Amino acid sequence: MSDSPFAARLQELERQSLLRRHRVVAGPTGTRVRIGDAELLAFCSNDYLGLANHPEIVEAAAAGLRRYGVGAGSSALVTGHMEVHEALTGRLARFVGLPSALLFSSGYLANVGTITALAGPGDAIFSDALNHASLIDGCRLSRAAVHRYPHRDLAALEQQLAGTKATARFVVSDIVFSMDGDIAPLPELAALCERHGAWLVVDDAHGFGVLGREGRGSLAHFGVASPRLVYVGTLGKAAGVAGAFVAGPRDAVEVVLQSARTHIFSTAFPPALAHALLTSLDVIARDEWRRTHLAALVARLRAGAKGLPWRLLPSETPIQPLVVGDNAAALALAEALRARGVLVPAIRPPTVPPGTARLRISLSAAHTLEDVDALVAALRDAAAGRRGA
Ligand SMILES: *Cc1c(COP(=O)(O)O)cnc(C)c1O
Repeated sequence: MSDSPFAARLQELERQSLLRRHRVVAGPTGTRVRIGDAELLAFCSNDYLGLANHPEIVEAAAAGLRRYGVGAGSSALVTGHMEVHEALTGRLARFVGLPSALLFSSGYLANVGTITALAGPGDAIFSDALNHASLIDGCRLSRAAVHRYPHRDLAALEQQLAGTKATARFVVSDIVFSMDGDIAPLPELAALCERHGAWLVVDDAHGFGVLGREGRGSLAHFGVASPRLVYVGTLGKAAGVAGAFVAGPRDAVEVVLQSARTHIFSTAFPPALAHALLTSLDVIARDEWRRTHLAALVARLRAGAKGLPWRLLPSETPIQPLVVGDNAAALALAEALRARGVLVPAIRPPTVPPGTARLRISLSAAHTLEDVDALVAALRDAAAGRRGA
């Protein structure tokens, strides 16, 4: 209907090259994805270690299904928390080196639940300007006073902390930033929080499994420990499955259990997936080669991208963003790559700041060096086509 307010909104999104669409993918995820008639070399997923379709983990999920059935049947605090959830929770806490943990069905739910449980009206939250949407939503829903500080700017953060009168203070940050691939200065953040009596809540969605000895995440990577640190790890990215957890001091995690509405009022995580995650943790710790190979892929891409008309943001992680700037130009580049058999997502505002639309190249241990060479060749070819036009 032409007078529908929704139609007008959709038209406006279309006009700004901001309309989003599902791509329908046939079959499992991987470095090759089938969409319609095309098989594309994909640099899209957060399956950094190539575990989302790993035979041992798939088998563990199947064994878990036979043992526990499909559904948990109720929320965790009714009868949905089974032995396998308890085992996984304990494993996760030990894996990241923290006293206690609590499972959530997704990272989004973990962040919203954790922040709203810990912080409330009258409290102050300090939030990195480039934090993930789930952290932002948690801050908003907490009804605490939220102060944004410029991205990774410790001096600005220190000033804001010094200026607050609130007694309960929380600094909230991604560790590896999801659309930039850079890393928060975690040791300095932890020290700053201790000096100012603030809690540090960190989201390691892109560091868990990727960084640190045995893939134990960013705390292990930096050797950071703090009695005021609350850690969120997600299990749908490098771990290849789904779900998330919060870990930290016993009383903090206990408070999250008591009041996180996204834990209390939601059906417990499917037990078979918890069973699969026990095997995923084994593979993450065992296969050091996946992280070594990933580092080689990052180096290969960064060397190959020199001389392209677009800039790769500085990043040592498998998230390698190529900044294009304009929304339509980013979409056009993604389209040009797709025409060459390569799939890389264009990321536009509001996911990233206006004027910084980009291709978010993400690498996986399942890629080969030749896959990265093919991406670089397609980018060069697209650049030449653009100049020729
Ligand atoms: C993906 C992501 C989440 C959400 O995790 P899901 O398990 O996918 O809901 C949270 N934080 C960051 C930084 C992320 O990139």
